[in-house]
Amino acid sequence: MGKEKGEEVLKLWYNSGLRFHCTSCGKCCTGAPGFVWLEDADIKKLSCHLSLSEEEFLHKYTRKVGEKITLLEDRKTYDCIFLQGKQCSVYEARPQQCRAFPFWLSNLKKKTDWLQAKQMCEGIDHADAPLIPLSEILKKLHLDE
Ligand code: SF4
Ligand code: SF4
Repeated sequence: MGKEKGEEVLKLWYNSGLRFHCTSCGKCCTGAPGFVWLEDADIKKLSCHLSLSEEEFLHKYTRKVGEKITLLEDRKTYDCIFLQGKQCSVYEARPQQCRAFPFWLSNLKKKTDWLQAKQMCEGIDHADAPLIPLSEILKKLHLDE
């Protein structure tokens, strides 16, 4: 890591790590309009997991927004199309955006962003939550903006 990059990391407000433990409450997969953006690797993995061609997968489970592709959701409940009860039905093949949550750039810019995410995600600062070190957070960080 170069000197400038190192200094940038030193300035991060979550330098000492963050506490998070997913309780599988499922709230991040429902409840409000949102987008689960899919990269090529996500489409390949999900198609393969569902034993579909990529074309079939895209037709059945996604829609385009501009040039980007997102998963479908229920128009009334905003459940992700893959949410069953409180569980993700494609958990092993879930998209990178889902794997990274709540470590999204939009949740980490300022401490207040993280505290706002905590209002929805009970895993943030959960009593059983281990301290996730900065190195792990940086690996997970999803550049969602
Ligand atoms: S809202 Fe948080 S605790 Fe609940 S399933 Fe999503 S990541 Fe896990
Ligand atoms: S793909 Fe799975 S983890 Fe991602 S939003 Fe849908 S139900 Fe949740």
